[in-house]
Amino acid sequence: MIKLIKHGNYRTCSCYNCGCIFTFEKEDVTTEDLGKNEYVTRVQCPDCRKMNTVNLTGGWNAETV
Ligand SMILES: [Zn+2]
Repeated sequence: MIKLIKHGNYRTCSCYNCGCIFTFEKEDVTTEDLGKNEYVTRVQCPDCRKMNTVNLTGGWNAETV
């Protein structure tokens, strides 16, 4: 039987602080300008509210960093 686990526009992230796993969309990502053309992308953990830095380079392929 084929089951849909999650829709394709969601990415998962494992929180560095509390260890929970959550999904997020592009709209949830905050881009922070560090200057000198450097950016970090962050997403807030829905559980502990800590900001997790995610690597979205190479398109919409998030990796926890
Ligand atoms: Zn957390």
